[in-house]
Amino acid sequence: MPPAHPFDDDKLREECGIFGCVGVVDAANFIALGLHALQHRGQEAGGIVTHDTETGFNQARRMGLVRDNFTSQKVMETLPGAIGIGHVRYSTAGSKGQTAIRDVQPFFGEFSMGGAAIAHNGNITNAVQLRRELIERGSIFQSSSDSECIIHLMARSMGRTIPDRMEEALRKVEGAFSIVAMTRSKLIGCRDPLGVRPLVLGKVGDGFVLASETCALDIIGAELVREIEPGEMVVISADKGVQSHFPFRPQKPRFCVFEHVYFSRPDSILGGRSVYETREAIGRELAKEAPVDADLVCPVPDSGTPAAIGFSLESGIPYAMGIIRNQYMGRTFIEPTESIRNMGVRLKLNVNRALIKGKRVILVDDSVVRGTTSIKIREMILDAGAKEVHFRIASPPTAWPCFYGVDTPNREKLLAANMSEDEMCAHLGVDSLRFISLDGLYRAVGESGGRNKAQPQYCDACFSGEYPVEPADMIDAGFQMKTAAE
Ligand code: SF4
Repeated sequence: MPPAHPFDDDKLREECGIFGCVGVVDAANFIALGLHALQHRGQEAGGIVTHDTETGFNQARRMGLVRDNFTSQKVMETLPGAIGIGHVRYSTAGSKGQTAIRDVQPFFGEFSMGGAAIAHNGNITNAVQLRRELIERGSIFQSSSDSECIIHLMARSMGRTIPDRMEEALRKVEGAFSIVAMTRSKLIGCRDPLGVRPLVLGKVGDGFVLASETCALDIIGAELVREIEPGEMVVISADKGVQSHFPFRPQKPRFCVFEHVYFSRPDSILGGRSVYETREAIGRELAKEAPVDADLVCPVPDSGTPAAIGFSLESGIPYAMGIIRNQYMGRTFIEPTESIRNMGVRLKLNVNRALIKGKRVILVDDSVVRGTTSIKIREMILDAGAKEVHFRIASPPTAWPCFYGVDTPNREKLLAANMSEDEMCAHLGVDSLRFISLDGLYRAVGESGGRNKAQPQYCDACFSGEYPVEPADMIDAGFQMKTAAE
C-alpha cells in the first residue's frame, strides 16, 4: 500500500500513542479524548478496552481516526466502566503501512486469575527471536505485532498476579517499551529501563491517568503528577492509589531526543521542559551555529515553526509565514489516483508569493529524511520568485534507522546515510544547507555541556548510529552496525 500522503513518506513517524485511566466515570470518554490528543502519534487505527463489573471486559478496535470511530454514542455505549486503556497506532514492525485489524491494540489475554489488556508504544528488538521460541513451545499468535509477545510471555509465567506476570515477561523483552495495561481493577504503567519512549502520570478528580504525553492530560482537565521513571512499573487502583516499583536492573536513562525535536506535540511537557521552548532553543542554537545573511526566516509548517521563531529571534532576521499549510487536506482525497498523489506537497503546502518574491529565504525544517519533500519545497519557493533558498535543519543528519518504535526508511533511502552535507546541498539544489550539530541539539534540550560522548544522556541512534540497545532481530536479518571507522 502506498503512503497515505506523499508528504508523510518523507518524515519519521512515531508509531503509537497510549492512554489509560482508572477511578473515573465513563473511562471510555476520557480515553477517546486522550487518544484524540495523541492522534499525531498514530493515525491508522485505534482501540479501547474497558472493564465494567456487570459487562466484564469490553473492547472496540477500529481502522482510522479517533474522531471517526470513538465519538458516536452507539460505539461509546458498548464501552462502559470506570477503568480502561486505549491505543492509537501507525503500524508495527510486522506490518508497516498495512495495518490489519488483528494488529490493532490493545491486546487482550485471559489468564487463570482473570483477564488483562495491554497497549504498547515502542518496539521490541528481540521480538522475532521471542516469537520463534514461543511458537515452538505452543503459543498461537493472533497478530503480526511484536507487542503480542508480551501477552504470551505473561501466559507462560508462574507469577501469582497479573503485575507479577507482566514484570517477568518484560524482563525477557529487549528494546523500547512504554506500556499501559489493565486488569479488572488495576491500571498498570511501565517504562523500559532506558525510558526511551515517554509516559506520564496524571490525576483527575479521584482518578488517575497514564498517557504518552501531557497534552492528553490537558484535554480532559487532568493535572500532571510526574513522569513514570525509566524502569518503573506503577500499579494503580481506585482504592490503593499508585504503588511504584522498579523491577529491572537500573541503567542510565536514554530518552529519545527526537521526541523533543519532532514527535511530541509542542504543547506537551517533556522532562519538565516545554517542548515548544526546547524547539525555540534549537532554532536559536542553529542560528548561532549556522548564520546566513538573508531577508526572511520561514518555517516548513507545522513542525518547523518553533525552531524558525527561535532562529529569527536569535538572528534578528524577520520571521514570516512564507509557506501556508492547508489544514483541511484530508488523507482520503489524495488516495484514489496516482496522478493526484504525484502532485506532491502542493496539495498540502502553498507558498505565500507576496512575501517570498525577490527575497533571500531561510527555510527551517525539523529534519531531512529522504529529501524528496525538501526538493519540492525548494522548487515551490523558487517558482514564487525567491532570490535564494537556504535550508536550516533543527536536527542533525538522520543517517541511521530507528528500531525503537519509529518508522524509518531503510538506510539506503536515508539521504544523510549516503551523502555528505555538501552533496546533500547540491542534491537538494539549495544555496546552503546546514544541520544543527549533535552537541548543539543537546545544549538546546538543556545539557549545557553538550553530548557526553562516553555516556550519552539521550538515545540519538538515528543521528549517531550508537544504539543503546542492540537491535538483535535486525542484526540477525543482516543489519550492519556502525563500525569503528565510521
Ligand atoms: S533512534 Fe532516534 S527516533 Fe529512535 S528512539 Fe533513538 S533518538 Fe528516538
